[in-house]
Amino acid sequence: MGQPVVCDLVRRFDLTFNILSAIIYPHQEGRLILELYGSRKDFNRGVRYLKEMGVRVEKVGQEIHRNENICYQCGTCTSVCPTSALWVKRPDMEIVFEPEKCSACELCIAVCPPRAMSVKFNSTKML
Ligand code: SF4
Ligand code: SF4
Repeated sequence: MGQPVVCDLVRRFDLTFNILSAIIYPHQEGRLILELYGSRKDFNRGVRYLKEMGVRVEKVGQEIHRNENICYQCGTCTSVCPTSALWVKRPDMEIVFEPEKCSACELCIAVCPPRAMSVKFNSTKML
């Protein structure tokens, strides 16, 4: 494709974005998870543009799971979670997980020592 499509979302459609996850291999298909901010009209125009450029666009939902039998409450995941879906409840220092806040960025999966976190994508087509 060779087109700066993400930059175009900003320049042409007045959208701002937050990259939650990026898996990109040279000359191969990749996956980019973005949070997009802007008006509904600009959002729809931007998504339509991406599709016209050959980008497969999907809305990400997720099934998040923390294996409570494995999690030993170390708190490592709270330092990487961008949405505060994982957080420390003080003063007892319990590590709380709120799946409804999770954006499926997968950062916690990589850092969790005992591999207690798992995220399955459940995507649906948009527009
Ligand atoms: S995948 Fe993990 S790190 Fe990412 S938002 Fe969800 S709970 Fe937080
Ligand atoms: S990093 Fe893993 S073991 Fe540690 S609190 Fe988070 S989910 Fe539990």
